[in-house]
Amino acid sequence: AALVEICDVWKIFGGVPVLRGVNLTLRAGEIHALLGGNGAGKSTLMKVLAGLYRPERGEVRLLGTLLGQASPAAVHRLGAYLVPQEPLLFPNLSVLENVTLRLPREADQRSRLEKLMNLLELELDLRLPARYLDVAQQQLVEILRGLMRRARVLILDEPTSSLTPKETQLLFGRLRRLTQDGVGIFFISHKLHEIRELCDAISVLRDGEIVLRGRPEDFTDAGIVRAMTNEDPGQSSR
Ligand code: ADP
Ligand code: MG
Ligand code: MG
Repeated sequence: AALVEICDVWKIFGGVPVLRGVNLTLRAGEIHALLGGNGAGKSTLMKVLAGLYRPERGEVRLLGTLLGQASPAAVHRLGAYLVPQEPLLFPNLSVLENVTLRLPREADQRSRLEKLMNLLELELDLRLPARYLDVAQQQLVEILRGLMRRARVLILDEPTSSLTPKETQLLFGRLRRLTQDGVGIFFISHKLHEIRELCDAISVLRDGEIVLRGRPEDFTDAGIVRAMTNEDPGQSSR
């Protein structure tokens, strides 16, 4: 069964359609690349999924449930978590406080936390104030926050933009391990080599429409770039 089904979603800002009938499916265990030029609508689409924007038309199903008017908090509870491009941790709160903030108390909280930290290979003193973490660690703590809320869908908006190549490799290993548990991931990136290395599926957005979809290996780099930019060789040299 699909984790996410986006059907004919339209989003209009000030009369301008930014998403124009988007259809997209995320399956369990899939890492799905969302690619597109600046302003193509990637972040808008992911914010619709996260409940931050309401579509003017169309519908989104998360684990079979229609989102409808669901608030971002309700979408969290249903199982999707958007990891912000810039982590939003409270610098003076400890890692533990950041992760468990507004999390309903549960008897097995501590053991779940330890299991997830093992899965993420996150070795951190939970009492450390978040301001001492580097960017890569902050991102992992954000992912941990989502997983503690039992997220089945993670949305990563350009997660490697501030990471070194080595940190990127470590992140990819961790993401693959999460998908073995059935977590699905939307991965927004401009870097084709990262998408080829990590992703099972690719969708290219251009001007609010999906213009290419499939497995990364089905397309050449040039074909993907052409879809992103709509370069038509027949028309460029007139
Ligand atoms: P991407 O993430 O692919 O770079 P965005 O989804 O951020 O693209 O933006 C798509 C288009 O929608 C852009 O033209 C942007 O200016 C516009 N847009 C995004 N958010 C808003 C908003 N809250 N109000 C008005 N226009 C917006
Ligand atoms: Mg952008
Ligand atoms: Mg964006």
